[in-house]
Amino acid sequence: MKAREPKIKVALLQDTQKAQINLHGDYFLAGDTALTGKITAEISEGHIRFKDEQGRTLGKKNEIFLAAANQASFTIPQVKIGIGFHWQQNQEQTFYGDILLSSAGPKTFHLINIVLLEDYLASVISSEMSARAHPEFLKAQAVAARSWLMAMLEKKRIPRKTRQAKNKNEIIVWQDVNDHKLFDVCADDHCQRYQGITKIISPNAKKAIEETRGLFLASEGKICDARYYKCCGGQTEIFSTAWEDISPPYLQSVTCADAAREPLSSEGDAQKWLAAKPPAFCNTQDIEILKKILPTFDRQTADFYRWRVCYTREELEEILKKKSGIDFGQLQSIEPLARGTSGRIYKLKIVGAKKNVIVGKELEIRRWLSPTHLLSSAFVVSIEKNHDATISKFIFHGGGWGHGVGLCQIGAAVMAEKGKSAAEILAHYFPGAILQKLY
Ligand SMILES: [Zn+2]
Ligand SMILES: [Zn+2]
Repeated sequence: MKAREPKIKVALLQDTQKAQINLHGDYFLAGDTALTGKITAEISEGHIRFKDEQGRTLGKKNEIFLAAANQASFTIPQVKIGIGFHWQQNQEQTFYGDILLSSAGPKTFHLINIVLLEDYLASVISSEMSARAHPEFLKAQAVAARSWLMAMLEKKRIPRKTRQAKNKNEIIVWQDVNDHKLFDVCADDHCQRYQGITKIISPNAKKAIEETRGLFLASEGKICDARYYKCCGGQTEIFSTAWEDISPPYLQSVTCADAAREPLSSEGDAQKWLAAKPPAFCNTQDIEILKKILPTFDRQTADFYRWRVCYTREELEEILKKKSGIDFGQLQSIEPLARGTSGRIYKLKIVGAKKNVIVGKELEIRRWLSPTHLLSSAFVVSIEKNHDATISKFIFHGGGWGHGVGLCQIGAAVMAEKGKSAAEILAHYFPGAILQKLY
C-alpha cells in the first residue's frame, strides 16, 4: 500500500446564512484577484454574495473558492464548538489553508477549509488533547486519528444504504460515516474537534505528527477504521454496539489493564461490573494525568469511570418527550434488552402508560436520556417510589465516557505515563493491527 497525502474539506460553519472572514495575507479569487482584510459573505436565492470592507460586491456565485498564498491565514469570529454537548461555547478561531464557500440550498451555505491531512491532524491533536500530554500517547493518538480519517474518506466514496431501522415500536438508528455531502468532516465533536491554529499547535503535538507522518494502522491489506473515545470504563466495546453489525478483527473487546478479563456477557455481569470500580488504566483519579490529557473545558466532567445521574420521573418524561419526540405518558420502566462487551446498552426498552418503544444504538440511547448526552450507554437503572407506588425517581449508575470502541484515550495516556510506547499502546487497543507507512 502506498498513497499520497490527501487534502481534506473541513466545514467550519455549516448551513449558515452569513459569515464574516478576516483574511490575514493574500487570498486569491479565480482570475487572480488578490483579497485581504475583512470580507463578508451572505446568501440569497442560492447565490453567495461576497463583499469587501467597503461593501463592494466581489462576486456572486453558488460556489466561491479562495486560494491561500503561502502563510496566509483567516479568522472566523464566532465558531460554535461542542454543539449539543454540555461544553458548547463560541470561540474565535484562525485557520491556514484554502477557503471554499459552497451553497447548501437557497438560504444557506457552508464555509469550508481545505487543508492537507497532516496539517489537519496537527490541529485536531492540539484541539482534542492538552499540549502537555505524554509524547507516546500523542503519537498513538496521531496514528489512530490518521487511520480513522483515511478509512472514513475511503468509506464515504462508496454509496451507502441508509443506516437506520425504524418501525412504530422499535427505533434503532446510528450514523457511522458522517452524512456530510459537500465536505469531508465538520469541525465539531460530531466528527473531530478542529480549531485551526487558535490554540497554537503545541510543539508536542507537532512532533507527534512529524514522527508518525504517513503512518497508519492496517489489517488485512486495508487501513483500519481506528475508533477512539475518552474512557472505556474498564473493558472496550465491540463495533456493532454503536454502528452496523460487522466485527472488524482489530476492534475486539479488550481489557483496559495489563491482565485480561472476560468481556461482559450477561445482564448480571453488567450489574456487578457497573456497581464495582475495578482497577483499569482509565480508572485514574490522578488529576495531574487528567490535566495533561483533557483540554480545560473537558475537566468539568471529572467522574467518568463510574458516574451517576438522577432524574425525577417528571423530569425524565419531559426530557424523553423533547429528545425523542414521543409522549410516553407516565413512565413505568426502563429495561436494558441487549448489551455489548463493555456493558454498553444497544437496545433499551422504555415503557410508559401511553407507549412502549425499543431504542438503539448506543448514541441514540445517550441522546434520549439526557438534555445533552449521557456520558455512555453503559448503565443500570434503579428507581425510587412514592407512597402510592408510582415511580418518583430514576437513577442511572453508569460507567465510561463515549462509545467505548477501540482506543481508550484516558487508558492510553496512563499507559504512556507507565512507560509504554505508542506502538505498544496501539497493539493493546487494536489487537492484530500492524503499523504501515504510506507516504
Ligand atoms: Zn461531522
Ligand atoms: Zn479504558
